[in-house]
Amino acid sequence: MKLLLFDIDGTLMLSGGAGHRAIDRAFAELYGIAGAFGDLAPDGKTDPQIFCEIFATRGLEIADHSAAVRELAEVYARHMAAEMAASEQARLMPGAAELVEALAGRDDLALGLLTGNFETTGRLKLAHFGLDRHFAFGAFASDDGDRNRLVPIAVARAERHLGRRLGLGRHVVVIGDTPRDVECALAHGATAVGVAASRYSVDELSAAGAHHALPSLEDIPAFMEAIERCQEKQS
Ligand SMILES: [Mg+2]
Repeated sequence: MKLLLFDIDGTLMLSGGAGHRAIDRAFAELYGIAGAFGDLAPDGKTDPQIFCEIFATRGLEIADHSAAVRELAEVYARHMAAEMAASEQARLMPGAAELVEALAGRDDLALGLLTGNFETTGRLKLAHFGLDRHFAFGAFASDDGDRNRLVPIAVARAERHLGRRLGLGRHVVVIGDTPRDVECALAHGATAVGVAASRYSVDELSAAGAHHALPSLEDIPAFMEAIERCQEKQS
């Protein structure tokens, strides 16, 4: 049994700026600042990391970071629901829906999420495209704000959901679009599959240590071949 853990933004879909706008609205509501997101590079960062980066760049004095992140997360989720519903630019990444449908039909594979989104907003984004139903479990920024700690959480969730032991190893496959996705896989001996359909190239994802880097999710046989090979033990 292989466990496939998908990143959301830039891997399965793009929110078309809905995320940025919802964060801006949350900071405007709670801190009275406009355009908080600015030119921050979100690539692979978790939402709590993004919030904390904004605290720093905007010089906001925050006494209790976890409490502030929790409060922001709630307000952000409310704005995200509205922004996502109104987003005309939101779109699935090429091949994502077809691939997920194909994988969901296989009984030797379990599908989960591993994302820097909070669970509520991550699911909301996928629900926009009816894709959330294929992901019964996952690990989210609401579990831990550090992506590098999410693989064991996702494995534990998968084990509980499937009622069987999976453990860590190369049969756990993290699929994502940034070097941070690759890094979080390598931190736990998982297989890293990079998808270069967003901001990073095949070469950049390979250089980051991805075991396989694909130009997109469109080539289903190529994806299948990459995950077949992940069982081969490598150091
Ligand atoms: Mg991503």
